[in-house]
This record gives sequence, C-alpha cells and structure tokens, in this order.
Amino acid sequence: MSEHANLLRRHRAVMPSWMALNYSDPIEIAGGKGARVTDAEGNGYLDFFTGILTNMLGYDVPEVRDAVERQLATGVVHTSTAYLLRGQVELAEKIARLSGIPDAKVFFANSGTEANETALLLAAYARRSDQVLAMRQSYHGRSFAAAGVTGNRAWRNLSFSPLDVHFLHGADRHLPQFAGMSDERYIEACVADLRHVLATATGGDVAALVAEPIQGVGGFTMPPDGLFAAYKSVLDEFGILFISDEVQTGWGRTGEHFWGIGGHGVTPDMMTFAKGLGNGFAVGGVVARGDLMDALPALGISTFGGNPISMAAANATLDYVLDHDLQANAAKQGATIIDGLRRAAGRLPIVSDVRGKGLMFAVELTDPRTGEPSPPLAAALMEAARERGLLIGKGGLYGNVVRMAPPMTLTAAEAAEGLGILIASLETVNEEAA
Ligand code: PLP
Repeated sequence: MSEHANLLRRHRAVMPSWMALNYSDPIEIAGGKGARVTDAEGNGYLDFFTGILTNMLGYDVPEVRDAVERQLATGVVHTSTAYLLRGQVELAEKIARLSGIPDAKVFFANSGTEANETALLLAAYARRSDQVLAMRQSYHGRSFAAAGVTGNRAWRNLSFSPLDVHFLHGADRHLPQFAGMSDERYIEACVADLRHVLATATGGDVAALVAEPIQGVGGFTMPPDGLFAAYKSVLDEFGILFISDEVQTGWGRTGEHFWGIGGHGVTPDMMTFAKGLGNGFAVGGVVARGDLMDALPALGISTFGGNPISMAAANATLDYVLDHDLQANAAKQGATIIDGLRRAAGRLPIVSDVRGKGLMFAVELTDPRTGEPSPPLAAALMEAARERGLLIGKGGLYGNVVRMAPPMTLTAAEAAEGLGILIASLETVNEEAA
C-alpha cells in the first residue's frame, strides 16, 4: 500500500466520515508558495480555493511569516482576554476604522462559527429576544446557534436550535418564483416576504437578521445591490439589528468594495469575519456598534481568541492587503476570469450560470438533458481540473456549483492559466455529458 493510501486508510479509521471528501482520492497538501501548492506525492497545483478562502495572500508570504516569527521570538505564545495585548488593539483599531460602523468595537475569537455565535449572543442580549431572521441556503457555522441560522438542510443537521429562527427567501434569485423578475421587482418581492414573516411567523420582538451578502457555501449566490438596504429600512422600523456575515466576503475580495455588503448602501450593526484574515492562522471576530458590544456585562474569556500569534499574522495580512491594494487586483483579475468564463459558457450547454464579483466566482452546472441541477457534473469538473493541475471548490444548495476564490495576490499570468484550465476542463465534462 502506498504511503498516501495508508494515510487515507488511517484517516477513515479515526476521523469522521464527513471529512476529506473533496475528490475521489483526497489530496494531502504538503507545501505551498504563492498561489501554488504541492501534494505529498510531488504533484503541483494552482490553488483557486486556498483552503476555503483561508490563505487569501497565498502561501508562505514573507511578511506574514516574519511577523509570526518575530512574535514567537518574544516568547509570548499564550493569551486570554484577561490581559492587554498590543496586537489585539492594533488590529481592532484597523478593523473598527475599516468597518464604517459608528463607534465600533471588536471582539476576537478563533473561527467564523465563534464569531457568529458571539454576534447572535450580543443581538439576543441587546434586544432581550431569542428570535432571529436568517436566509435560506445560508451557512454560518457548526455550533448550535450558528447551525440553527443555517438555511441549508445538508449543513443544518438538526432541526432544533437555541434560537427561534425564521428564514427569508431573498438570497437566491434562481428560485423559480423569481424567474424573469427585474432587480426592482425582486427586491420588492423579498421585502414583502420579510414583512409577511414578521407579521405572521414571529412572536413580536425579533433580535436580528443575520445574512451573508454573498452566500459562500450556498453557491456564491449574488442578490442585487440594494436588497439589504431595502431589508434594513424595514428592520429599522422594528428595531431589529442587522448582522452581515463577512466570513467569506470581507477584505476586498469582491473587488468593488472592501466588505461584501459594500454595494448595498447600508451599514450593518455588526459584521463577523474569519477565514482569510490570518492567512492560514486561526482568527475570527465580531465588529459591532460599541453600545451593543458593551451591553453584555461580560462576554467572558476567550482563551485563544486574539492570541498573539494569530494577531501578528492577521495584522501583517491586513496591512499587506491595504498596502498592495489587493482589492483593485481582485477586481482586475476577477473580471478577466469571469468574462472569459461567460464567453466560453455560450458553447457549453452544461453551464447554466456564471456569476461572480472580483475573486469570488462560480459556475453552476445543469444536466442539459433534464434541466436539473447536476452534482455529478460538478464533481466531474473538480476531477478534470485537478488532473490539469487546478484546485477548485464546490457548493450550492444542490452541490452543483463549482466555486472559486483564488488568492487576492493572483497575477495576470496565473489568472490566464487558471482560466485556460477551467475552460479545458469544462469542455471535457461537457463532451462527456453530451
Ligand atoms: N460563515 C460563513 C459565511 C462561512 O462560510 C463559514 C465557513 O465556511 C463560517 C461562517 C464558519 O466559519 P468556521 O469554519 O471558521 O467556523
């Protein structure tokens, strides 16, 4: 048995059956540099998914490595919220300023799940209500509260939640009831749904709406700009808080704006973040209006939240994003790839949609014979791209959306290379499906 096959056997024996499911033969990533990774068997790949949007600057970035090594050299490798930590204050100042939220304060955790858990706790406490609104097809994490506001059966797992959750249908305009609608009509229909849910399904005070401005796991669904401003005007009537989950959409990845919510003309009361901020090191958190953050008498200790190593990595990563204007790079490289995919889609009947903003784009795959969403075609595309040396991701309500989020440092040459591989892989899968 090869070393690789043996590792897979050991993994399946002692780890959950729902892990390491990408590819028929899961990859062991052994190293990385820039936008490329190498597996343990020596195969190289261009990485268009970067973990799951975790290495947003790519791999082995000297500025991040140096910052972490400098922190390690101080000997300070433990923390808790009981002490003053310079790295936390510096990062909180930057995020508060960038957030646009008035009098913002920041709390650091270790993951997106914890970030959302914290935001929901803050909202429930501030409004003295356990009722929340969330979006169908959303994904917010794997704890009870975060899974409870997840509107996707595959990820929701259990039907009970510590919160009383009501789902809105505004995230995915591909649903049949929205077919052919203009943006204005679509937004009107979503607002009518929100009012209907508030009037009929909730029992009075609602704490918050939590939503991803672009759904990640849900398949990079892209509601029209302005939807969340329209929602917010209704929420404000009822004193309901708005939490924007920016775990996948933050830091300029969408090109047009620094936050995913940017194009909607609305300032959330809180935003949650995680994933790319530490460029591979674990960091998540909430940025919220100071009055909401301070309303909780004691959020308590987070032993590892905001630890000095993560803070060093996150400060260096965020500085890099800003100093190199990676938002502009995301807009530029993303536009090239999205345009190229759109042009190719015309001759590929398996592609029912190409959508994206900046370096966050997706291809939706449908069986041309039945018109039904096709998860096997998405799986086949992933395998075909892997064979050609490109890593991509999967998602969508039906698992038929191939999602991509390359590092924000992507060069024009890498964008062209990845696009070429994607088109060649789509052509192969298209031919096989015909
Ligand atoms: N929120 C969104 C939008 C996510 O995509 C994810 C993870 O994929 C989470 C929250 C949960 O983050 P984590 O896996 O770091 O707990």
